[in-house]
Amino acid sequence: MKLDNLLALQDEDTRLRNLQRELVTLLPERRKAAKERLRIAQDAVDAATQENLAAQREYERFQHDYTRQRDNMNRAERNAGRIMSLKGQEAAAAEYAAAETAANAASDAANRAAENRTPTERRLDDARAFYAEEEIAIAAILSALDERKVQVEGEIASLQEHRNELAATVDPTQLHYYDRVRKGCWPAAVQFNRNDSVCTGCNLVQPASVKQAVLAADKSANAPLIYCPSCGRILY
Ligand SMILES: [Zn+2]
Repeated sequence: MKLDNLLALQDEDTRLRNLQRELVTLLPERRKAAKERLRIAQDAVDAATQENLAAQREYERFQHDYTRQRDNMNRAERNAGRIMSLKGQEAAAAEYAAAETAANAASDAANRAAENRTPTERRLDDARAFYAEEEIAIAAILSALDERKVQVEGEIASLQEHRNELAATVDPTQLHYYDRVRKGCWPAAVQFNRNDSVCTGCNLVQPASVKQAVLAADKSANAPLIYCPSCGRILY
């Protein structure tokens, strides 16, 4: 049985399938992964922005509190100036002292909040710098993927042409059967393991009649195609 042309065609189809897989599956997957990387960097910038804003707000809140307590102190001082009775003076002094304590506490809290704000600003700067790096790296990846896509499309077009030339050299009966099988089973033509009587496509042991047919076909160039009874593949 002579299958040389058919097997050459199958080799070409293998190359075509690999390129088509790259075009349809691998390249889009890589593109998606690259974009995901950029999204992660963007998320980190967003989180750092939120964190920094929260620290900023906290600082402003304590600053505002401090201003309010200073106002209370001033008011207590003004009151003390107007009050003549000793009892009233004592009350104003107590009011002043309480406002002073609160103002000091607010001032300390504002200072601590200001210290907390520094690391959040640094983290935001870091996240932005990382994003800028990622943006450049990912732009390079995407452009390389674009180039590869054009290359693969070109290779597929030329392989397709060569494939058609090869197909024209294959015996029409073989080609017809091969085209039918390859839609469901790949590869469509597989070796028959003559020692173990196994189809290497489906790995199932075949009856003695199949082995006899294969051995007979080995000796005759005009033998008909032999199919695996289990999976339908062409055996050689
Ligand atoms: Zn099989």
